[in-house]
Order: sequence, then structure tokens, then C-alpha cells
Amino acid sequence: MSISHYTKEILDILDVNLTFEEDCFQKEAINGDICFVFYGQLSYRPQACFHCGEEETACLMKWGFKEVTIQLNDVSEYKTLLKMKKQRFRCKTCGKTSIAETSVADRHCSIARRVKLAIAEKLSQPLSMSMVARLKHVSPATVLRVLHSFKPKQLSPNTSLPEVLCFDEFQSVKRVSGAMSFIMMNGKTRQLLEIVANRQLPHLEAYFARYPREERAKVHYVVSDFYSPYASLVKTLFPNAQLVIDRFHMSQHIGRAFQQQRKQVMNTFHRRQKEYK
Ligand SMILES: [Zn+2]
Repeated sequence: MSISHYTKEILDILDVNLTFEEDCFQKEAINGDICFVFYGQLSYRPQACFHCGEEETACLMKWGFKEVTIQLNDVSEYKTLLKMKKQRFRCKTCGKTSIAETSVADRHCSIARRVKLAIAEKLSQPLSMSMVARLKHVSPATVLRVLHSFKPKQLSPNTSLPEVLCFDEFQSVKRVSGAMSFIMMNGKTRQLLEIVANRQLPHLEAYFARYPREERAKVHYVVSDFYSPYASLVKTLFPNAQLVIDRFHMSQHIGRAFQQQRKQVMNTFHRRQKEYK
């Protein structure tokens, strides 16, 4: 595994476009605190211009970098920062520039999404907001904002469903009934839409069945991982939707398959053999 891969595992980062070099880590004193600082670079080929929608890739030039600092969850009790060089792009058609986007943090936000989830988790414990703020190295105002952002403003059966829905699952809090919770996002705006405590099929069917059929028919794509119940969910409840396996889960799957194959081949040799090594 590469340095980049290990670093991302340690930092719990899934963004495939973010890479780390060998000398990506430093301990630095920032505002009187000793911090862990990781230096990474975010780059990819954009599919279309953010401003005018130009899709011709030759029209989208790479246009230098902009460094942003994102606060991550602590590593070994140290405040941990990610200094990310984000690729900038310039569109030859409209002349405007845009900047690469990452799943690590929301747009214009210097606190990682994982930190916000950790704050939300801390808020479920009997701790004061100022204590949570101190533990997570953020201001009490940030804690309050995170609390508000998790309010169940989420979809009522009267709200419309987007054209692209992204599904995934995660381990939420211990008291939920299923081992994994279900999370859903609008694939175009990247807005979190809903968290359902249990990702098992009957729960999800009951959840989506609250929407009238016309609403569900508006969904054209459902993007998810290989979790098979999603296939039956899409088949039964989204009449016009196509199920798409996203490239993160696809590459993760391929990577694991290669690893498995490598181990199988290695195990046919003795550990001292040259071929094994
Ligand atoms: Zn443009």
C-alpha cells in the first residue's frame, strides 16, 4: 500500500482525488498548540465547467492551486489539520475560474464533515456544549451550528425527491436498532437529505413508501455501493431509476479483489522462497 493510502486510512479520508506524498506530515506549533499537520493535494479532471456547464474537457484548463486548511478529528490526541492544495480550473469558454471540490469538508467550510459527525455524536452524551467545543477544538458557536444542522428538518413525505439520489451506510450511534444506519444525499447539490436509523430493507421500504409514486418516479439515478437490498429497493419503489455503483466503492472492490488474489498466490510459496518475497 502507498503512503497516500496509509495516510488516508489513518485520517479516515475517502476522497479518491486527494493524494499524499512521502513527506506529507509535520508537527507544528499553531496558535500555541502543537498540531499534527498533513499536506495533501487535491486534483482531478472536471466533468464540466462549474459556471457555464461547458463539457468539452479541452476547454477546462488546470490553473494553479489554492491552499486551504481543514480541521480533522484528532490523531493521538493532537489537534490535526489538513493543509490541502486544491486544484483550480479555468474555463476557456466563459473565462471564469473554479476550484476542485472534496468530500472531506463542505464548501467554504474549514471543519471536516467527520468532525461535525463527531460533534453530533458527542452531543448525544451528557456533556455541555462548551465541553464539546473544547474537546473538538472548535468554538461553541460551531457546536450550536452543527446541532442545528442535524435537526430533523429532513424530508417530509410532502417534499420532492431529487433526480439523483446517493445512498450509503455508516455506523451511527450505539442505541439504533440496526448495526448500520442509512444515509441519503442529493447527488447534484451534495446536500445531506436524510438519515434512517436502520438500513435493513423493510425499514427502507417503509421509509420510501411514504412518498407518493409520482415523487419516486422523479428519481432517475440511485448511486450506491454493492449492498444488494438497494437493488430490490430501487426495483420495487423507484420505477424510473437506474442503479449506479459509484466509483469509490467500485475501486475499493477491485482493490480488495487484487489483494485477495495476491495473498492467494503468495501463500502457494514458502515464506523463505524468493518468489514469496
Ligand atoms: Zn465556463
